[in-house]
Amino acid sequence: MKITTATFLKSAQYPKDYPSGSLSEVAFAGRSNVGKSSMMNTLLGRRNLVKISKTPGHTRILNFFLINEEFVLVDFPGYGFAKVPLKMKERWAEMVETYLDSRKQLAGIVTIVDARHFPTDSDMQLLEYLESKNIPVILAATKTDKLTSSQLAALPARIRAAVTSDFPIVLFSSHNGNGRNELWKEIKKLTKADASLKKADSRKQLEKEEMP
Ligand code: GDP
Repeated sequence: MKITTATFLKSAQYPKDYPSGSLSEVAFAGRSNVGKSSMMNTLLGRRNLVKISKTPGHTRILNFFLINEEFVLVDFPGYGFAKVPLKMKERWAEMVETYLDSRKQLAGIVTIVDARHFPTDSDMQLLEYLESKNIPVILAATKTDKLTSSQLAALPARIRAAVTSDFPIVLFSSHNGNGRNELWKEIKKLTKADASLKKADSRKQLEKEEMP
């Protein structure tokens, strides 16, 4: 995937502040420190576009990035950091739930897990929650460079055994770039499927309007 342009669009907490337009969006969710910013920067080939937060729980808003003028990537704030007070956790949940429930442009979510620690309780909670909402998921297991080759070979089966849905699994590493092309391929599949759904919807709408 060639990235010709990658620009920060805006940050938003409430729907009124989300970017306008109908481009498909793919969001990135994961625990604080899981390697989400590194993954997004690796995907985009930009060292620092998505800020690598050294303070877990630091970024508490949704950040929107326009890619190749074609689609939008959304950076969710990291979740599940133990030191974040309950009020903050509630605010995270409310902001993310509002986005998931209301955002028509959402094509799917890249759920990022740590290849060494999957599945944690919060990984499973998020996956079950997204499944209950029928939101397409790509499961990206990152930091695979920290696994031995036999651990790496066993990982896909280990993940499959823990989950019920058959979403795509991508083994990723920001340190050696493994999985970058595969993750792009899956993201493009999501945005294409979403765009054709929208086209079919608007065709149906047109047909309805044209009916006498
Ligand atoms: P975020 O809080 O989820 O955005 O996580 P960051 O991208 O800031 O990464 C958290 C820490 O994990 C940093 O110290 C990164 O250098 C490290 N890290 C991120 N991705 C990888 C990876 O693929 N492999 C290894 N070994 N370390 C990583």
